[in-house]
Amino acid sequence: MFSRLLLFVLLLAGAGSAAAQTRVVASLPAVGAIAREVLGAEGTVTVLAPPTQDPHFVDGKPTMMLALNKADLLLDVGLGLEQGWLPPLVTGARNPRIQPGQPGNLDVMSLVQRPLEVPASLDRSLGDVHAGGNPHFWYDPRRVQEVATGIAERLAALDPGKAATFRKNAAAFRKRLDAKIAAWEKEMAPFRGRSLVPFHKSLVYLEDWLGLRELATVEPLPGISPSPSHLAGLILRMRKVQPPPVVVAEPWYNQSTARTVAEKAGAQLVTLPGDVGGTPDTGDYVAWMEMVLARLRTGLEEAK
Ligand SMILES: [Zn+2]
Repeated sequence: MFSRLLLFVLLLAGAGSAAAQTRVVASLPAVGAIAREVLGAEGTVTVLAPPTQDPHFVDGKPTMMLALNKADLLLDVGLGLEQGWLPPLVTGARNPRIQPGQPGNLDVMSLVQRPLEVPASLDRSLGDVHAGGNPHFWYDPRRVQEVATGIAERLAALDPGKAATFRKNAAAFRKRLDAKIAAWEKEMAPFRGRSLVPFHKSLVYLEDWLGLRELATVEPLPGISPSPSHLAGLILRMRKVQPPPVVVAEPWYNQSTARTVAEKAGAQLVTLPGDVGGTPDTGDYVAWMEMVLARLRTGLEEAK
């Protein structure tokens, strides 16, 4: 199938022309949303993964390879997040600009100053999809600010004539976030020290930002489905915590498992909106974070 795809890609690439506008491809919607803020009107951003799919396990499509073939800059999260699906698309796209190590290829986790859960040594033997460290930075807007700055610098290096615009756009986005961060921290302050049970280990940056605790995750390890005995042990631990911890799950995780855990532990279940654009009111990063925090607050308020 890949060779037919490749032929299709090459035929279209032959018709290519010099682009005045920068073409950015982002692996995930959250990364694309940050890139859009920085790029402004100076180019286009194509996002590969749909906002409703588990970012660790995305179905590769021919259209993704086409977008990669024409890209000037590929932004991915890195730390192995896209390990299971992106590398064959990047290779198959036959675009030398975006291959690993090239200026047109940027792992945005490399821009995050304090990555969490980075292990002393890499070990995938248990099937852990976070073996390189926790990649879910976009749940912390302060880290999103760092990523915006780094994306602006990379765009400036690729297109020095527009460097001032990219830096100005990134600064405006950071400023808008500064105001939001202050408001969000105030809204979430009453819940400091409260416990969460995320389905997946995706909320460590949010917890780090807002002073929330993580009792455990529904998955025994990132990317590993829970066994009945793991769930039974988890429910027993949850029952000992007052007020009860809130179970938090992205929509692509097994909602009936999440609901069962919450019900048996006497806890609330919060279903998050997925990635940016996963629900109608989450079209940009700020709107998405508003929704994440609104749902979380509802769950924390109702847990008694
Ligand atoms: Zn993950």
